[in-house]
Amino acid sequence: MSSKFVRAIFPGSFDPITNGHLDVIQRGVKLFDELIVAVGRSPLKDQLFAPAERVEMIAELVRDIQDVSVESFEGLTVEYAATKKADVILRGLRSLTDVRYEFELAMTNRSVAGIETVFVMTTEQYGFISSTLIRQIASLGGNISNLVPANVYKRLQQRLRTSRDQQ
Ligand code: ADP
Repeated sequence: MSSKFVRAIFPGSFDPITNGHLDVIQRGVKLFDELIVAVGRSPLKDQLFAPAERVEMIAELVRDIQDVSVESFEGLTVEYAATKKADVILRGLRSLTDVRYEFELAMTNRSVAGIETVFVMTTEQYGFISSTLIRQIASLGGNISNLVPANVYKRLQQRLRTSRDQQ
């Protein structure tokens, strides 16, 4: 039987990384030989963490997961994928709402660059978590400690304390 080395990238904003993203990484790494978590550097209007901080938090989390690394990139995902010689784009699915958007994205990426997208579905308990929701709940003082990894929780607390002190 022939075997092929498959490298995947998992692109996203990860502002910040959540337990849902981490679940996708843990499932994805079982499917591929190498997985690169790719933090998009495109300017987000309501960004909470700078790309370098997002990369740092992810690096702390994947340090002990073999064959997973993290970097940031700018510009088109398909161009970044080509630079990395990636065979596959990995994305996560939470709901049917995600499917509609992701379907269009995957079709576009395949037609412009010929790259396949592979989807994994999250654990049901993380199906409602989004980075946007995390940013909103945290800024209103809600408890998100079981929705994000501990290092992210700590940084969120610090960030919110700093912005409160500045007001
Ligand atoms: P983007 O801005 O590119 O959508 P995100 O960081 O929001 O970046 O998400 C990156 C990928 O992770 C997307 O495929 C998204 O659907 C998926 N994702 C986000 N949250 C979850 C979750 N809770 N469970 C599974 N997949 C998720």
